Amino acid sequence: MTEINETDNPDNSSIKREMRVRRIKHGTVIDHITAGQALNVLRILGISGTTRAVVTVAMNVPSGVIGMKDIVKVEDRELEEEEVDRISLIAPNATINIIRDFGVIEKFRVDLPERLEGVVKCGNPNCISNTSEPVISKFLVNKKPVELRCIYCDHVISEGIAEHLI
Ligand SMILES: [Zn+2]
Repeated sequence: MTEINETDNPDNSSIKREMRVRRIKHGTVIDHITAGQALNVLRILGISGTTRAVVTVAMNVPSGVIGMKDIVKVEDRELEEEEVDRISLIAPNATINIIRDFGVIEKFRVDLPERLEGVVKCGNPNCISNTSEPVISKFLVNKKPVELRCIYCDHVISEGIAEHLI
């Protein structure tokens, strides 16, 4: 009797390879996303179940650098700077690969901005940025660990940043 090892089955592994590295002609590959954050990245990009975009999501992919990672590929789209800033808040190690004509024409790591304006909602309900005043939210960013300090009320957001995104 021959034992069939799932992981050594060539058909199975070629399917996996196809799933992971389906080449895209134009678009963006967001790699090294903190494991578990892929769906938040989709939310930042405004991608929901009704989207018509071709989107590939891989979650909990083994990665030598950060243990496990998520990957999001979006076809026919390049990201706005503001979207990259938002992604950097929840996936500080993410790399952005811009694909044109099947080739990577640009690759860069996200970089947390030093200040955020109008990106995150202050968690203090009494903060002036949460009143009816026309005051845009402003935060100073600490990078390691990622902490956001409201410049109006000193409220600090360190966990669940995705839930505070405007
Ligand atoms: Zn505040």
